[in-house]
Amino acid sequence: MTPSVPEQTSSRPFHYPDPKSALSCGKVSLERLAREYGTPLYVYSADQIAERFALFDAALAGRDHLICYAVKANSALAILKLLAGLGAGFDIVSGGELERVIRAAPEARAQVVFSGVGKTSVEIDLALATGIFEFNVESEAELELLAARARKAGKRARFSLRVNPDVFAETHPYISTGLREHKFGIDIRLAAEIYRRAAKNRWLEAHGVSVHIGSQIRSAEPFGAALQRVSKLVGQLRREGIALRAIDAGGGLGIDYHGDSFDAAAKVREYAQALDAALGDFDGRLLIEPGRFLVAQAGALVARVLFQKKNGKKTFVVTDAAMNDLIRPALYQAHHEILPVRPRAGRPRVVDVVGPVCETGDFFARDRKLRPVEAGDLVALLDAGAYGMAQSSNYNTRARAAEVLVEGGRARLIRRRETMEDLLAAEIP
Ligand SMILES: *Cc1c(COP(=O)(O)O)cnc(C)c1O
Repeated sequence: MTPSVPEQTSSRPFHYPDPKSALSCGKVSLERLAREYGTPLYVYSADQIAERFALFDAALAGRDHLICYAVKANSALAILKLLAGLGAGFDIVSGGELERVIRAAPEARAQVVFSGVGKTSVEIDLALATGIFEFNVESEAELELLAARARKAGKRARFSLRVNPDVFAETHPYISTGLREHKFGIDIRLAAEIYRRAAKNRWLEAHGVSVHIGSQIRSAEPFGAALQRVSKLVGQLRREGIALRAIDAGGGLGIDYHGDSFDAAAKVREYAQALDAALGDFDGRLLIEPGRFLVAQAGALVARVLFQKKNGKKTFVVTDAAMNDLIRPALYQAHHEILPVRPRAGRPRVVDVVGPVCETGDFFARDRKLRPVEAGDLVALLDAGAYGMAQSSNYNTRARAAEVLVEGGRARLIRRRETMEDLLAAEIP
């Protein structure tokens, strides 16, 4: 499948075909999907994921590049398979994510980069045996461990150092990672010395350098600034005879969770230009690791309204989805637009939309102007394709939601709803 590259893309695949119809994903009614698969239900548009991938691919066409989808954003096997089919590599942060890639897209195993500050020997061994593209190493201690495991396996380990460029990126403090005080990466001022030492170790192959400054970053400028510092380091090492062949610019490009006029195509062009300018005459391979930008807007969480209740001046809309299904509002004060699947006449009201979990933090929206809904209605929480299902849990002994992928006019169940058996299977009473 090679989707054409649209000049301008609509920000979301969810729309009302006409004022009397239910909200749809492409041509598929969410009402129908809820009837068939129940709620809470994650619905994703494969077409939009492919379209977003094509935007990056086209914007980077002038350079040797590899788009490594950040698996943690949404690790559904069907989505990994879809992206591998488009030519994606993968950015993983655990051995478990590597197992997913191996199962969903074994042909992509040589296009995997392994990030993360706390890799274990077992995970490193698995990645060495798999033959991944490279390890993004985040500390000297990890590099030592990597060399030791490589020696044991009798395989040279290709690595890049994840440097910390000390660049400030405006985003939520929990998802900002590029400052010296964060746990991620190696101080860029110390990196050259580590490469020099590693060059003497026959079990290590200094292959690249990587950087990832955070998530949900809306402006291209900090990406350019970070990559400029990385480029300088690469140039300095080249003059010393250490030729790095890959620069990994990380992920982090943000979307607009509020409006519906977000121009994804323009955003990607601006981002790619910032990277390109910073790379200058570097002629190796450029890697990027987008997660959220590829999948967030492709997904919605569909929930049913259970009750409405009033406490004092407040009106609460209680849904059958909760923070265990989508924790972003509780964790990052994140905003998700909420639409009634079948709109009713009447004026919007100011409500809190909450779930049944026993936590005051279990809310999707506070003091939100919402079109009128009644018990039994369906609502859709938009932009839930990234860090939604991936961060879900069984808190309150709630089974995790089912997931559906819509491709063209067809919907396909890609994960069935969990059963109580699934939840209790590992326990020993
Ligand atoms: C989380 C993460 C990403 C993806 O970030 P997005 O904001 O989802 O694009 C990429 N690379 C690394 C190392 C990460 O930790």
